[in-house]
Amino acid sequence: MHSALETLGIQQINNSSCIGGHWCGDTRLDVIESINPSDLKCLAMIRPSTDQEYQHIIAESTQTFATWRTIPAPKRGEMVRRIAQELRRKKHQIGDLVALETGKIKSEADGEVQEMIDIADFAVGQSRMLYGKTMPSERPQHRLYEQWLPLGVVGIITAFNFPVAVWAWNAFIAVIAGNTVIWKPSPKTPLCAIAIQHICNQIMSEMQYQGVFSLFIPDDRILLNQFVEDRQIPLISFTGSSVVGRSINIKVASRLGKCLLELSGNNAVIVDESADINLAIPAIVFAAVGTAGQRCTSTRRLLVHEKLYDTVINHLLHAYQQITIGSPLDSRTVVGPLIDAQAVEKFQQVMMEVKRQQGRIVYGGKIVDTTGYFVEPTLVCAENNWTIVQQETFAPILYVMKFKTLEEAIAIQNNVPQGLSSALFTDNLCHAEHYLSAVGSDCGIANINMGTSGAEIGAAFGGEKDTGGGREAGSDAWKSYMRRQTNTINWGKQVTLAQDILFPMMR
Ligand code: NAD
Repeated sequence: MHSALETLGIQQINNSSCIGGHWCGDTRLDVIESINPSDLKCLAMIRPSTDQEYQHIIAESTQTFATWRTIPAPKRGEMVRRIAQELRRKKHQIGDLVALETGKIKSEADGEVQEMIDIADFAVGQSRMLYGKTMPSERPQHRLYEQWLPLGVVGIITAFNFPVAVWAWNAFIAVIAGNTVIWKPSPKTPLCAIAIQHICNQIMSEMQYQGVFSLFIPDDRILLNQFVEDRQIPLISFTGSSVVGRSINIKVASRLGKCLLELSGNNAVIVDESADINLAIPAIVFAAVGTAGQRCTSTRRLLVHEKLYDTVINHLLHAYQQITIGSPLDSRTVVGPLIDAQAVEKFQQVMMEVKRQQGRIVYGGKIVDTTGYFVEPTLVCAENNWTIVQQETFAPILYVMKFKTLEEAIAIQNNVPQGLSSALFTDNLCHAEHYLSAVGSDCGIANINMGTSGAEIGAAFGGEKDTGGGREAGSDAWKSYMRRQTNTINWGKQVTLAQDILFPMMR
């Protein structure tokens, strides 16, 4: 076993339900295997959560909420501050585990842990800034204001590609807001979740608040549905594909619960005729092949002005020829493996469709003939209306297209179901402003002279249309984890109605 795993408390067989800081698991159930996608070896095994364990988790989480909500918010922030301290101490080992389990290269994996630390620091500060507004009342001797109160138990369902950071975005903000959280991670990356839960257990035990952070990893659709449909969970925050997100949204809406959705992207970069190519090329390459194209913000479509089209293709070709594919823990590696066999199969299907469409594969297009789920970073000359271009394929495939005017490029960019991230490379101020105006990008994120991937936690993160409309991380995203209450206090001796209504009995 890799030494980082042992340091983080991972054993050969791990229990997956954590209730009040205690681990449990049913030895009768089949185990989930966590597979290293770069060598296909089993990293460790997990006993999936049972229905009975889930009942304990929800009961514990609800009970803890009853007291946790009464703790002053800055004191709740102290728990997050102490978790962040542990994350700093174990950053290298957690980074190793993220790299081993997801296949993302070590520097990106370490970056993911840094993102957890960043959002923790942000949440600690936010715990002193859960501001409500005070507004002048139209009635004399009345005070009118809004305050923000915790929701209850927050359910967090996360995707495999950011196995720890996305949980941290949600969990740290949710707990400083006074909620307790139950985490349902991806079964493709269970060890990352178990390692983080160990850290939470340690801090919860030191601070004597068990049950603020809980974990469960079911291997069973029925149990998963029960979680989503549970009326004891007022908010489900879901990060994953649009297909699954849509079905969860329907289930949560039918019980009038709240849903925070962070779903698929299909992100485009536009390179106009004034763009600085030296700036654009490395940014595009990172965004297209980083995390092997398995980021929600990965660049999938590249729209190039016709005057620069050949130059950009040649520069990209040159850059792609330098890319090294291999073990995520090797510092020379630029691109690691895809997550699993299904992802490789999907890549192959898409390549067959490119051929059927008679698209030109400029670079790549094949799986790499070695152990592990490796595919070649791929450049394809494509059309925006192809079905495969309209969809998100979680692989390092970049579709390149030509345009004549900025208006045309923006129309192509926006003409997909998703609306997460977007970028324009330009040295033309008018083009930049046009792109960022109401007739410009329709995405939740729109950048100038930088790529589509790699967001900072300080701002709100999320996208429109099929990306789900949710906002997480910084700015005022904390409001999603709280309920707003309007308070009016009459400190006078008269009953006064709003809108100048005179009720006869009150004269
Ligand atoms: P996925 O939709 O397959 O799974 C996401 C999570 O949902 C997993 O934990 C999975 O076990 C769970 N799940 C699956 N079916 C479920 C059901 N019926 N009920 C409840 N939970 C269910 O996604 P994935 O393959 O893990 O991740 C890749 C996807 O996530 C991509 O589409 C990517 O764009 C998206 N993503 C979006 C963001 C964002 O912030 N917008 C961030 C990361 C990933």
